[in-house]
Amino acid sequence: MTTSDVEVWSTDGAVRTASVRAPAKLNLGLRIVGRRPDGYHLLESIFVPLDLADELTLRVEPARRTRVLLTVEGGPPELETDDRNLAVRAATAFFDSAGQPAEVQVTLTKKIPVGAGMGGGSSDAGSVLRALASGHPQAVSAPRLAALAASLGADIPYFLDPRPALVRGIGEQIEPIAGFPALPVVVATPQPPLRTADVFRAWDGTPSGGSVRAGLALTPAEPGRRMPSLSALWNGGGGDRAEEPDPRVSLEASPSDWRELLVNDLEDTAADLQPGVARLRIEIERSGARAVGMSGSGPTVFGLFGSAEEARAAALRISWDPTDHVHVGNTTSSP
Ligand code: ATP
Repeated sequence: MTTSDVEVWSTDGAVRTASVRAPAKLNLGLRIVGRRPDGYHLLESIFVPLDLADELTLRVEPARRTRVLLTVEGGPPELETDDRNLAVRAATAFFDSAGQPAEVQVTLTKKIPVGAGMGGGSSDAGSVLRALASGHPQAVSAPRLAALAASLGADIPYFLDPRPALVRGIGEQIEPIAGFPALPVVVATPQPPLRTADVFRAWDGTPSGGSVRAGLALTPAEPGRRMPSLSALWNGGGGDRAEEPDPRVSLEASPSDWRELLVNDLEDTAADLQPGVARLRIEIERSGARAVGMSGSGPTVFGLFGSAEEARAAALRISWDPTDHVHVGNTTSSP
């Protein structure tokens, strides 16, 4: 995505402005493969950006001390607008790290449902950092920017450069996947949202969570056994896997391949907490999706379709709950 989604900075005297899109992500499969002593879960997942995005505008002016003011348009009324908001925290962290105090006005137009498992807050933060770095190229080094992102949240480094990627560790090991196609999708989020921490806490209480906590592997430890389809995507890749996409990563993959890929270890737990997960899975499966998955810690459920027309027709056939947030679109291909 690089800087192409940051509208060029414009300058009016000392004031500089820019706008940036903050895309949602979907997780194509999510496996929990371990737990660190500090309680963070170790994951394997394919992250793909979605054509659903928040929009941010930034207005920056040099000042004696850094102050970040946020205006939010859209989104739920309970969304924080003070320095708990990740967009504010990202801008503050950037100028503190740069040692260049600034007065920043951020306008956030919220389009990504909150607490949906689509990384909306993380994307806002990563996109603010990406935009500020593009406008102030010497201010913060790339490694420092990555460290700032990680200090704000596990998924935020991904959003410094969102593109289809295999993501591991707690989110900091990011391997872009070349040649990943755009996939037509129907994406639906039931209400109320789920808090990521609540889902992981509940999962920790399941037998699988107990095994991982005890240091036992759920399945044999070789990556190829842990996430078979994920690994199959890479088998032909050799040393530099990002350079050699596997041709099977396409819409021609068989429905069983996609179903295997989309397994999300958190889905049963999320469905216990939010019954909309199971309802939406059944609805989207019945509508003719090639495969259905849950994103992140839920409760967003999505179906992959063979074409944009198939996705649009399926979305019209489904009888949604009036509170469902529904998006019909596509994931973003590798650049
Ligand atoms: P993830 O999948 O990254 O775990 P999510 O997509 O489920 O997260 P978010 O929409 O990012 O959830 O929001 C999680 C919580 O983060 C919200 O309930 C809110 O309190 C807080 N938050 C802080 N800043 C933001 C923001 N800019 N947008 C959304 N939520 C934010």
